[in-house]
Amino acid sequence: MVIAANLKTNLTRAKTAQYVDALEAFLKQHAIGQKVLVFPATSNLVTSQAHVTLGVQNAYPTQNGAFTGEIGLEQLEEFAIKTILIGHSERRHVLGESQETLVSKFNFFKEQGFEILYCIGEPLEVREAGEEAMMAYLEAQYAGIDTTYEKLIIAYEPVWAIGTGKTPTLEDIESLHAKLKAKSKAPLLYGGSVNMKNYQEVLALQNVDGVLVGGASLVVEDFAQMCLFAQTLNK
Ligand code: PEP
Repeated sequence: MVIAANLKTNLTRAKTAQYVDALEAFLKQHAIGQKVLVFPATSNLVTSQAHVTLGVQNAYPTQNGAFTGEIGLEQLEEFAIKTILIGHSERRHVLGESQETLVSKFNFFKEQGFEILYCIGEPLEVREAGEEAMMAYLEAQYAGIDTTYEKLIIAYEPVWAIGTGKTPTLEDIESLHAKLKAKSKAPLLYGGSVNMKNYQEVLALQNVDGVLVGGASLVVEDFAQMCLFAQTLNK
């Protein structure tokens, strides 16, 4: 399974280093063999450890150059980062990244052999418009994306569930994941208000290959418990 922490714009450099060290020690102690990804704020990047893989929440599709406020491959290479999050709903909807922009990032980092955690998900009004509208919306988020890329991981994250404490029903997650699995064989994670109350039932669902966790991942002990539980599922 894949258990991923999106730390977003939280923690300092020192606190992130403590977080990664504590998580690494826990995973080692419990011999956890699941894929554990941590995406810290860009200023807090550190290199991956034996059990914890560090990824970047965003980067510009360039080696280097005149792209104010962005980082490129040269900066990622310093930390040997080879994992990137692309298509998160906050980048799509808050920062206005278009599908075209995401595709250019995807292609660039695919070319560089990165592991790509690609996020899709519908806003509330789309979900409320019904099944057909929702599937059409999600379909459009696959446009231009190589769904056969061997280092691809997909996260289904309904926008209305992110950071809100609301989640789809377990039945809804299961049935949607079954449909999405038909589009790509890539591991498929669920994300959106996964927390200490619901992570076990979400992880146990059929066609859920892991979780992408925002708010609840900030407490390293909690995130570590999710990794431990994933290990017991033997999926
Ligand atoms: C996310 O932002 O990817 C996320 C899933 O956030 P949260 O867990 O806080 O809903």
